[in-house]
Amino acid sequence: MAEILRGKDVAQEIKDNILSDVEVLKKEGKEPTLGMVRLGSNPDDISYEKSIIRNCEKLGINTKVFENSLEMTTEELEDLLKKLNEDKNISGILVFRPLPKHIDEARIREAISPKKDIDCMHPLNLARIFEGNMDGFLPCTPKSAMEILAFNKVDLEGKNVVIVNRSMVLGKPLAMMMLNENATVTICHSRTKDLPSITKAADVVVTALGRAKFFDEKYFNEDSICIDVGVSLDDDGKLSGDIDYDQVAEKVKMITPVPGGVGSVTTSLLLGQVVKACKMN
Ligand code: NAP
Repeated sequence: MAEILRGKDVAQEIKDNILSDVEVLKKEGKEPTLGMVRLGSNPDDISYEKSIIRNCEKLGINTKVFENSLEMTTEELEDLLKKLNEDKNISGILVFRPLPKHIDEARIREAISPKKDIDCMHPLNLARIFEGNMDGFLPCTPKSAMEILAFNKVDLEGKNVVIVNRSMVLGKPLAMMMLNENATVTICHSRTKDLPSITKAADVVVTALGRAKFFDEKYFNEDSICIDVGVSLDDDGKLSGDIDYDQVAEKVKMITPVPGGVGSVTTSLLLGQVVKACKMN
């Protein structure tokens, strides 16, 4: 049976660091404050918002919600972001995505000040990652995968890492983070030929397709370290990862569960970036 890499302990360590940082900031008279921008009342956004507020309360981070109509235009959203960029009482800004289709997301990404961009939307912050600078704001999901590996003392130097995803929020920044740790990285996608032979030969496999139980045992070997980023519903309507956990967990070296793996670390990382923004600004 594989070693189960749970996110809970990783998240707790991040929260402990946030608590001590917030204490120091408050002694200096600084109040870390997260500004959340929401358009409409999508139930997923509301539940994410509630969970962030609950977590912030426990960590001593203030929150302000800027609720807007679903009809808000790109220009109006840009104006709101401009105000929040200039507001000294807001440390970091989170815009709930996906945005409605009529909003020009490329313009919104550039409208957030790179100094308050805790969700790493701004092209400048992404560009820093591609330059190998990991000191700024990082996209939380790939960072979560990295934190889980680091917490469990997986040394990535010289390891063959396969990432099945080439999106700008996940696969591409994650590849840069892995390279920064001196891993040898392969990115796979829907046009990749013979995926099982590529993943099976790897030391670490990160899956992020969004297709429940897609990866069965033929994709791995007994020493595989499996990081499952995918989240979707299986045929029974149960939350599932991309990996067929029940089958694969018995055959590999390490595996993250879904739920309880990568996704359980991301909110803590996001709040850590609010604290980072407060220190920077
Ligand atoms: P996405 O843009 O749809 O990316 C999916 C990737 O999988 C694409 O690169 C796609 O290739 C590739 N793919 C699809 N079918 C494939 C196949 N048969 N063989 C090989 N590659 C295939 O999605 P995303 O936004 O990056 O998110 C991916 C997953 O991560 C989703 O399940 C999402 O729920 C999850 N996610 C989890 C968290 C978390 O906190 N745990 C956060 C964000 C997202 P092409 O590029 O060729 O289409």
